[in-house]
Amino acid sequence: MDRKNVIYIAGYGRSGSTLLEMIIGSNNKIYPLGELTNFDTIKHKDKAKCSCGKYLKECEFWRNIIKEYDLNNKIAINGQKKLWALIFKNTPENIHYVIDSSKTARKNHFRPIRLAKLLGKNIYMIHIVRDGRGCIQSLIRGSNQKMENGEEPKIYFPVLRGTLGWMISNFSAHIFQILHKDKYLRIRYEDFTGDFENVMKKIGVFLDICFQEEIKRIKEANELPTIHQISGNRLRSQRTISLRTDDGWKNSFSSMNNIIFLIFNYFFVKLYEYDIKFNKIP
Ligand SMILES: [Zn+2]
Repeated sequence: MDRKNVIYIAGYGRSGSTLLEMIIGSNNKIYPLGELTNFDTIKHKDKAKCSCGKYLKECEFWRNIIKEYDLNNKIAINGQKKLWALIFKNTPENIHYVIDSSKTARKNHFRPIRLAKLLGKNIYMIHIVRDGRGCIQSLIRGSNQKMENGEEPKIYFPVLRGTLGWMISNFSAHIFQILHKDKYLRIRYEDFTGDFENVMKKIGVFLDICFQEEIKRIKEANELPTIHQISGNRLRSQRTISLRTDDGWKNSFSSMNNIIFLIFNYFFVKLYEYDIKFNKIP
């Protein structure tokens, strides 16, 4: 019997979701696949790369899935259902969890709720939250994806966009929490990088998985095993990871932007125990 379930990484962009996926996904019972929401858009793009370093059409995991997915495509009633069936079929037998790190931003607000209904499987949500002002400062710097493609990285209205985007992404994750209370865990990016071992233990209890080896691997800066994430942050092609709490935004985030952010997000800032006012880093 197929006992594979899904770990869904929720939250807003630039909150460390790729990092989280890479680290917990290096456990041999977990299979990380990246932002699966983008599968349809990128599956036939010549330049789309898997995190294993190969092009998707050459990757040992994805090439079979893409081939089978295209086959009989006319009969497919629901592409997503078919994709997931192929994923469960093509992942090794000993796997307990497949990770989808599509987050809950933009078109994916209700994706985890829909997946729970569609797949009839357990969806374990890990909601990763980073101080939204850090996410916004990163938006001000520009689009990762466009930078990767060598295009102009400017994002328009980053403060307003980030302020509303952060609010709605988190709100969406809480709707899932209300519906699936015991399948929801929230972690803060700042704790994940700053108090790594304890947060990993907490995730281990939530998923009933022992992360001792993964904790050791990161502490000793050893290489991660090869994985097949299809989309996400550029970081995903790196094989070693150093954890650092990135709070440089505190030096450049203006008081005016802070007011705009707080008008919409005061409640969440309180809920996640961030500071209303922040100090510059000496
Ligand atoms: Zn691959």
